[in-house]
This record gives sequence, structure tokens and C-alpha cells, in this order.
Amino acid sequence: MSKGTRTIRAAFDTLGCKLNQAEAESLSEKFVQAGYQVVAPDDEFDVYILNTCTVTHIADRKARHLLRMAHRRNPGAVLVAAGCYAEHAASDLIKIDGVRLAVGNHEKMSLPQLLIESGLVSSDGLVVTAGGVGANLRTRSFISIQDGCNNFCSYCIVPYVRGREKSVSPGMIIKEISEKVSCGYREVVLTGTEIGSYNYDGLTLESLIDIILKETTVERLRLSSLQPQEITPGLIALWKNGRLCSHFHMSLQSGSDTVLKRMRRLYTTADYLGAVSLIRSVAGEAAITTDIIAGFPGESDQEFSEGHDFCKQIGFARIHVFSYSKRRGTAASIMPDQISPQVKKKRSDIMLKLAEDSAAAFHSNYIGKNLRVLWEQADNGIWSGYSANYIKVYTESDSDLTNVISNVSVERLYGDGVWGEIKL
Ligand code: SF4
Repeated sequence: MSKGTRTIRAAFDTLGCKLNQAEAESLSEKFVQAGYQVVAPDDEFDVYILNTCTVTHIADRKARHLLRMAHRRNPGAVLVAAGCYAEHAASDLIKIDGVRLAVGNHEKMSLPQLLIESGLVSSDGLVVTAGGVGANLRTRSFISIQDGCNNFCSYCIVPYVRGREKSVSPGMIIKEISEKVSCGYREVVLTGTEIGSYNYDGLTLESLIDIILKETTVERLRLSSLQPQEITPGLIALWKNGRLCSHFHMSLQSGSDTVLKRMRRLYTTADYLGAVSLIRSVAGEAAITTDIIAGFPGESDQEFSEGHDFCKQIGFARIHVFSYSKRRGTAASIMPDQISPQVKKKRSDIMLKLAEDSAAAFHSNYIGKNLRVLWEQADNGIWSGYSANYIKVYTESDSDLTNVISNVSVERLYGDGVWGEIKL
């Protein structure tokens, strides 16, 4: 082992989408393979890597804050800003105390090598730690199957920072999922910027899911996000297999057709409704979750209220509400009639109230019923985990339930989910 050297400790934090989480997971595995010891961000570390997001100004602000906090906790550590924000504004990030490298999406997967090439880490100091990849038993793993986007929605910076669509080969995906399963993971989430446009030499998402179900033994397979035009009868028919989680995250962004047109989204509210009824015809208990942008440029009171009514009509299990945030270089940033911060705040608050009511209504349907829950973690003896249809379930137990799947009888609403008792 160490021959007078000390293992370098690396910590990771991630902001933004599930694709970023998947990449941070692969990146941390690369660091383990390169001989680092991966530690938690609140432990002492020598290197800190923040996988940034730049989808809103708030994401940018969070990134700067996390980097400053990391420097305050470990002033001698090498800080690295990686990912979308670094791609967009490396020169700003490098000015933050302790930040020694800012690398975009294309370079970040070579970070262990880049740290050596830039002289920030000595290769002499690296030793292989015991345990290696998969030593920590976890529950849910994010697998990246695709990157980039060809759509250019008018508000979105992603196609500029992630580039055009590229899909990972089915062979690589099967290999990665099988490795995760043998490490003890029970659920896999397929992620990407736009997984609905997965296409590897003509092989589509529908065929990919079919292959995964046939060639791996993963117990639960979840998709991160789809667009309504990607929900086809053939795709939905796959959900007859109970290993596919009945959870569909379909970003609506606005429930007004005129706003959707200005956003350059490729569907109408009628298309969205069609996708919802197709899903519910096969998976009646499915959770349909979404993202909504409040205060898109030019959004009138009438358009906002149409959008609000549409969301109410769908009955979402969860709504993530974002206030519109201008991204330099996008078409929407120079559109006329930008909405004032006060109006954006008011509209976000109204949507957040609807989000809360819709989630409670969805959860209430399950009181007195049973759910199968994959337990993830405990806080003071209160365990939490998720059902296949993405309901957060809590229970009290003295046993170690990590990575256990149980039948739970739902008793009442609790916090952001429900409270239940494990059925023996
Ligand atoms: S589909 Fe639209 S919102 Fe999603 S990543 Fe592509 S451009 Fe951005």
C-alpha cells in the first residue's frame, strides 16, 4: 500500500439534473480507480470537485456558494469547478479562492489525468485504496445513456454547453447495469439530457429498455424524463412488465399553447393530454411529475391562468416550479416583454401551492393501500424510501433497512410523502 505516501482524499458535490448526478457517480468511480479515497464533502478532503449546473442564476449562485464553503472548510484543498457552468464561465469561477481548475463537460471525465498534467496532484502520492468501486452498498444508481440535445428550446442553454445528441451503445449500458446489480444496487435510473431521442445506430429507447429487461436482472428500472411526443403505444406497452417503475417525468414547462410555441417546445397541450391518457390506460397508478417555468417572457395573466388550470386538470404527483431565468445567448433572453421579478415570484408561489395540493391529492389515493418501498436512509430512527411510483414513504424501525424492499401499508400523509407500517 502506501510506502510513505498518503492516499489523496477527493470529495464530490453535484448540482442540477440527474445526468449530472450520473456523471458525478462515474467520475467518482474514475477517481477511485485512479487511487483516490472518495470522502463525503463535509469530511476533510484534499481535492473537491463540484459538478455544476447553469440552468438558472440560482444554480450559478449555489455553485459559487458551495465552492466558497468548500474553501472555508479546507483552505489548503484544490477545488475544481466542472460541468455546465464551468463550460460557460470558467474565467469567473477560477477567480474564487481555492479554485484551481475549471473544466467543461468534454474534459471533466479526464479529471484524474488533468489534475496530474496540471501539476496539482502528484502521481507519486496516489495509492490504491481497499474496497474500490462499489464497496459501499447503495440503493439507486443513475446510468447515463445519452448526452446533448438537438432541440434548442428558446430558454435553454443546454444545447450550447452539452453539444449535439450522442447515445451510449447498448452493450456499454448493459455492462454498466450488470456491474451495478452485482454491487448490490436494486434500482437503476436511465438518465441523459433528452433520453427520449436515444438512438444508437437506429436502436431506439423502446428497444433499449426491452434489451435491458431481457439481459439484466435489475429489479427496478426507472426513466428520468421524457417528452410527450416520445410516449408511443409501443413504448408504454413495455410497462406491463412490473420491473419498470410507473413514474413518468414529462416536462410540461407551460400549460398554455401560445407560451409553448414561444418556448419552441415540440408539443401542444393536446399532445400532452394524449400522452397522459396513454400512460394511464396502461399504468393507472403511475405518478406523472413535471417541471413548470413561471414568468416566461411575454406570459400574460391569461396565459398563466390557462397554464395553471391545465396543471390542475392533469393532477400531477409532483411539480417542480422554476421562475424563468435569463440565460445569455438563448433566444428567450432577448425576447420583448420580460416579466418583472415581483410577478414571477407571485406566479411561482401560486404554482407552488398547486404543487403542494396536487401532491397531497395523489398521496391521499394511497391511504389504506399497500406500496412496495425500497428503503434508502434513516434519520433518528425514521426511515425513508420510495415506492415504484415515486411516493416518498416514511416509517419507524430499529432495524437496518438500507436497500431492503418491503410491503408497506400506508396510514396517513406525512411531510412530503406518506407514513406507513411495514407488513410482515
Ligand atoms: S429539450 Fe429543450 S429544455 Fe431539454 S435540454 Fe433540449 S433544449 Fe434544453
